[in-house]
Amino acid sequence: MEFPWGHHRRFNAYADYFRKQFGERVQKLSLDAGFTCPNRDGRVGEDGCTFCNNDAFNPSYCKPEKSVTQQIAEGIAFHQNRYRKANKYLAYFQAYSNTYGSLEDLKNLYGQALKYPEVVGLVIGTRPDCINKEQLKYFQELSQSHYIILEYGIESCYDKTLERINRGHTYQQAVDAIGLTNEYGLKTGAHMILGLPGESREEILDEADIVSRLPLNNIKFHQLQIITGTKMELEYKEDPSQFSFFELDEYVDFVIQFLERLNPEFVVERFAGEVPPRFLAGPGWGLIRNDQILNKIERQLELKDTFQGKLYRTKI
Ligand code: SF4
Repeated sequence: MEFPWGHHRRFNAYADYFRKQFGERVQKLSLDAGFTCPNRDGRVGEDGCTFCNNDAFNPSYCKPEKSVTQQIAEGIAFHQNRYRKANKYLAYFQAYSNTYGSLEDLKNLYGQALKYPEVVGLVIGTRPDCINKEQLKYFQELSQSHYIILEYGIESCYDKTLERINRGHTYQQAVDAIGLTNEYGLKTGAHMILGLPGESREEILDEADIVSRLPLNNIKFHQLQIITGTKMELEYKEDPSQFSFFELDEYVDFVIQFLERLNPEFVVERFAGEVPPRFLAGPGWGLIRNDQILNKIERQLELKDTFQGKLYRTKI
């Protein structure tokens, strides 16, 4: 059976979407352009999100030593020596808030990436409160010739949770940022954390319906993990009972229920996060890799004879 996304996999998978979009494998190159974060530097807050690792955070005076140009040159050289070679790349501006700067800065940094003919586009990770019309207009111009996607950290659809994790923005701000980005004809992505403290399983599942109404192209999910050096680690040590972690098999079943309710047009980029065990300060799933989790999810989708969007209703 072929699904609406044009292949036989039971969810709208990123790898297949990309192969269709570009006609070949495209490699993402993760870059750190030295941006900072308004939830750290005091503009919105100073303590950051409770799940974010303080130690890993680069303060504004500590810019990455390598320019974007150099990082891309090295990234391409690295990937060209690998077995699964790619000829096309997406520059992935992942670290911190990659629109938190002046338009001139953005033009300089993104311009460095797009000078490479192999770089066919930009993936720009940022916060919903960190985007403006001037920037969107610039990205709109770039999108005439390149693949451009703005990825927003939504994390939760509930303000009570966003407050609790000290996110520094509301869900409505995420809705507005994604809506505005879409109005500029730009692609949008979102990141969600499943299992945040204070949310019942039903509430998390309802998020599938809530985010399905957004004009999103791509979505990524992470299970909640407690990372060393975070405020959440302290909260967990103080009172573990306020957390309700997913066991691996429970998570697989849960993700399937979530997928059934999710908008079938959303391309799913990932279902789970991987953190080296030494950074885990709470329960984990051992050394299982993301591709193994993905296999489990696909096997269950098959066994249950279900698929992404099976229970999706356009007007909820
Ligand atoms: S998770 Fe992102 S927005 Fe939150 S404090 Fe860390 S860098 Fe800032």
